[in-house]
Amino acid sequence: MRVLITGGTGFIGQALVKALKDRGDEVVILSRNPAENPEIITALEQIQQPVDAVVNLAGAGIVDKRWTEARKQLLRDSRIATTASLLQWIEQQSKRPAVLISGSAIGYYGSQASQTLDEEAKPVDGFTHQLCADWEAAASKATELGVRVCLIRTGVVLGAGGALHKMLPPFRLGLGGPIASGQQWMSWIHLDDEVRAIVWLLDNPILQGAFNLTAPEPVTNAEFSATLGKVLHRPAFFPLPGLVLKLMLGEASELLLQGQRVVPVQLQASGFEFRYPVLQSALKQLLN
Ligand code: NDP
Repeated sequence: MRVLITGGTGFIGQALVKALKDRGDEVVILSRNPAENPEIITALEQIQQPVDAVVNLAGAGIVDKRWTEARKQLLRDSRIATTASLLQWIEQQSKRPAVLISGSAIGYYGSQASQTLDEEAKPVDGFTHQLCADWEAAASKATELGVRVCLIRTGVVLGAGGALHKMLPPFRLGLGGPIASGQQWMSWIHLDDEVRAIVWLLDNPILQGAFNLTAPEPVTNAEFSATLGKVLHRPAFFPLPGLVLKLMLGEASELLLQGQRVVPVQLQASGFEFRYPVLQSALKQLLN
């Protein structure tokens, strides 16, 4: 299979590229940065041969910077405008890809308390909901072009890099702990399962629509911190006050202060089996 990947240079994208190449698939990576690598292109017009599938992961980092109005616009444009260009390109192709797997996030559900959220759950309005809903809507237009569309509402991806990498330093020093009350839910997924789920959706022609890409056992932030401390053999009793986080991140702190308890109902109903369904074994695999 020949797969076009936007965001293929990123944390999830690189792992996906490796998994696809390991099984003999060909990849074409759309990036903003030119490279010596012949797999990397900087404009869709450079694609010479038809692609069988597209995985759309491009987007500026959500918690990398404070959400000023300009940053919010960039977060939207880097996803929604990029997806719209992709759709335009797909429409122009005489041989269109069979499937588009397009990024979204559990931020789709907005800030929720402790109710369990499956793909049918009612979202709460707010910046992340609007961002994800518009991103999903842009991708869903491919359905009208005869392309199968899967929307991947991804949780916090745990791997060598990404969010875990940012959390680790205080925990390694024994200075980690829950964020604020620690009662907010964290819906996480091991990077291997994230990639396996994307490949599963690519390979199963009957699957379409929204899929929560989160492990079946979300945890509260307090449980997450305690488990991380246990795996690292370090105490994890020092809470990070919500106010400090708000001062550091501004509005973006809501992602860490108000979680979501998301479950992967559609993925499991489709027969997908998680390699790392439980947090402790996921963290042990990544850190030991
Ligand atoms: P990364 O930040 O590691 O990679 C995203 C890629 O998007 C980059 O490699 C970059 O490619 C491209 N990109 C960055 N900024 C822009 C921009 N301004 N315009 C266009 N493209 C840009 O992200 P992840 O791999 O972690 O995540 C992939 C997608 O999944 C993202 O959209 C993210 O929001 C979503 N997601 C990730 C989660 C996680 O925990 N990692 C959780 C939930 C959702 P290049 O520099 O080559 O152009």
